[in-house]
Amino acid sequence: MSQKEIQSYLERLFPLNRSLTGNGNRASFNIVKEIIPLKIKEIPTNTKVYDWKIPKEWNIKDAYILDKNGKKLISFKDNNLHVMGYSQPINKILKWESLKKKLIYLKENKNAIPYRTSYYDKDWSFCVSKLQYEKIQKSQGPFKVLIDSQLTNGSLTYADYIVKGKSKKEILISTYICHPSMANDCLSGFLLTAFLAKEISKKKPKWTYRFVFIPETIGAIAYCKLNEKKIKNIDSGLVITTVGGKGKFGYKQSWNSGHQINKDIESIFKTEKIKYKTYPFSIRGSDERQYSSQAFKINTATITKDKYFEYKQYHNSFDNLSFTNGDNINQSLKLYLKLISKIEKWEIFENKMKTCEYMLSKRDLYSKVGGAYKNSKKNLTHSDMIQWILYLSNGKRTIEEISIKLKESQKKVKEISLFLTKEKLLNEL
Ligand code: ZN
Repeated sequence: MSQKEIQSYLERLFPLNRSLTGNGNRASFNIVKEIIPLKIKEIPTNTKVYDWKIPKEWNIKDAYILDKNGKKLISFKDNNLHVMGYSQPINKILKWESLKKKLIYLKENKNAIPYRTSYYDKDWSFCVSKLQYEKIQKSQGPFKVLIDSQLTNGSLTYADYIVKGKSKKEILISTYICHPSMANDCLSGFLLTAFLAKEISKKKPKWTYRFVFIPETIGAIAYCKLNEKKIKNIDSGLVITTVGGKGKFGYKQSWNSGHQINKDIESIFKTEKIKYKTYPFSIRGSDERQYSSQAFKINTATITKDKYFEYKQYHNSFDNLSFTNGDNINQSLKLYLKLISKIEKWEIFENKMKTCEYMLSKRDLYSKVGGAYKNSKKNLTHSDMIQWILYLSNGKRTIEEISIKLKESQKKVKEISLFLTKEKLLNEL
């Protein structure tokens, strides 16, 4: 892949009107399908997903504000951020006093159009820059206000793509697709994930990779619900977002800061001599909120380049193609690829006996004379190592993590793990 290729997709996808649902999402998936063979799926409106319900499908044809003389002051066709996401249809003549209550603008940047949504509260609004707000205020009313939108019983569109590996063990890689013309927030992650999937699919990987493209929150919740059994078996992954800004790299840790994936990301930044910011896990953020919930507890980390919440273009019209470009996304993609090659080197074993311990003595792996107890403060004995490795090998911990826990070399831990595999007590994943 080249930054030019990424750039050309960025330019094609940027103008589309994406949201939680609707034709803009389908059109975006159809473009990304040129990169990877996405499986596009639909969940009908009103489907119950845990505590949530799939909302109505939202589509919009046009929207504008006209002055008394029919002059267009604001047009959806100039910028799709002008209409608050999920706005109800409206066709009214309003005086300034009423209209101004339905105009959202940012006080701190007079040129920026804010990005706002109202998915679950029936409402409508126009988002305008402060300059546009002042212009409307000075114009002659009453104003004709039209939002030609539709909320219908349709469906929520999502997509996934599974790259089968030698092992059945899955790594989850998730990105959200629900923002309209926002380049860094949403689109950069969406595109990077597609190119990452393409690279991983070029040769059979060790692990199986599940790429998930969903609208944020409701999409992730629905995906967990529809694939509950599979998702419950996943313990590591990535949520990819905001990877294409001009500024600094950073990474948001997964819920267990000691997890291998966090260590690997830090080691990449160090080897590449990249300055980075660490964001500890927080329940504010993206779809790691769902994947880290109690039933799933997946360690999903995020490498970012201008992380959401942290840059001044965040959720306004300045998060555009002069802020985000193919080159920035490509820089992040290279880091993600380095991370994948580290993940591919993970060595993970699983104790086949889930219910209590093996009887080691009958296998000659434990002293046959009971009662002796040696309080060895120094190194672990061979027999201790066997018991610890069996105890810690849960199909999730890597050899590296176990060796750190036991303060023993990786070489030694691996040797014993392979021996226990030969003895049919462990499985190598
Ligand atoms: Zn956002």
